[in-house]
Amino acid sequence: RVVSAAPASPNEEAIERALRPKLLDEYVGQAKVREQLEIFIGAARHRAEALDHVLLFGPPGLGKTTLSHIIAAELGVNLRQTSGPVLEKPKDLAALLTNLERNDVLFIDEIHRLSPVVEEILYPALEDYQIDIMIGEGPAARSIKLDLQPFTLVGATTRAGMLTNPLRDRFGIVARLEFYTAEELARIVRRSAGLLGVPTDDEGGLEIARRSRGTPRIANRLLRRVRDYAQVKSDGRITIDVAHKALAMLDVDPQGFDLMDRKLLEAVIHRFDGGPVGLDNIAASIGEESGTIEDVIEPYLIQQGYLQRTPRGRIATLAAYRHLGVAPPQRDGD
Ligand code: ADP
Repeated sequence: RVVSAAPASPNEEAIERALRPKLLDEYVGQAKVREQLEIFIGAARHRAEALDHVLLFGPPGLGKTTLSHIIAAELGVNLRQTSGPVLEKPKDLAALLTNLERNDVLFIDEIHRLSPVVEEILYPALEDYQIDIMIGEGPAARSIKLDLQPFTLVGATTRAGMLTNPLRDRFGIVARLEFYTAEELARIVRRSAGLLGVPTDDEGGLEIARRSRGTPRIANRLLRRVRDYAQVKSDGRITIDVAHKALAMLDVDPQGFDLMDRKLLEAVIHRFDGGPVGLDNIAASIGEESGTIEDVIEPYLIQQGYLQRTPRGRIATLAAYRHLGVAPPQRDGD
C-alpha cells in the first residue's frame, strides 16, 4: 500500500514529528474539540490542577498524538508517551505512573490494547491517584498503596467501542476527531510545504488536499511524494498539472481513493452482488485484516457515502457503482 495512514519508515516518522503543530492555535480544524480543550485547559491552569483525563478517538492519522503533545505543552507540563501493547506487565505501568511529576500528561496510544491486569491498576490511579502494588512473594507477599502525583491520562484509540466500560467511564473529557475538509487539509499542506521549503501554488496544494482521504498524515505524505515527482519530472514547483500527474502515478484516483479502497468496493460489487456482506468475508476476499478494514479503510468510504454499514453487513451505494463505472443492479420496484 503506497499511502497507508500508518507511519512508515523511521525517516518518515522524523519528518512527521517535524511537521507536527506545537500549540492549539496551529492545530488546524476540529473546531469543537479545540474550543472545548481551550476552556478545560485554561480552567485547569487557572486552578493549578491536573486536567481531567482525556479520551481521543478516531481513525489513524487524524491528529490524536499531535493533540496529546499540544495538551501537555499548553498545560506547561511534561509528556510521557507509551502505548497499550508496550505495557505488558502491571509493573511497566506502575514504573511510569510513579515517575510522573505533578500535573504531568501520560499519553497511552492504542489504549484499547491494554491487557486486563494492566488496566486493573489504572483504575485507582485514575480515580484517586493511587496504585496498589505487590511487595514480596509467596506467603509473605502483601499489597501496599502508593500515592501518585495528580496527573492527566490522555488515551487514544481508533474506536471508542473497543474500550471496556469501566475504563471509558473514567475519562472526564471524550473527544471524537472527524475527517478534515479539503479546505482544512489545504491549510495543512500549505503550512507543511512552507516548512519543507517546497514551492506549491494554491491549486496544486488544494488538489493534494482533496485527495488525502480527509487525513492530515496522508496529506503530508502525498505532499512529499508529489514533491519528489516535481523535482525529477519538472522544475520542482507543485502546480495543479504536476499534482495530477504525480497522484495518477501513485494510483490515487480523483476521489482520493487508493488501491485498497477500490479493491474493497470492487469486491463488494463484483463478488458479493453489492452486499450486504460481512466484514470477515470482505477481509478474506481482498486479503486484508478485518481490523485494518474497520479502522483504516472503511471509515472514509462510509463517511463519503460509498459504503453503508448495516446490521446485515456492508452494502455498496450507487455512488460506488458510479465511481467504478459499473451499471447498478435493477432493484425490485425500479
Ligand atoms: P494519530 O495519532 O491520530 O494517528 P498524528 O497526531 O500522528 O495522528 O498526526 C499525523 C500527522 O498529521 C502529524 O505528524 C501532523 O503533522 C499532522 N496533523 C495531524 N493533525 C493535524 C492538525 N490538526 N493540523 C495540522 N497538522 C496535523
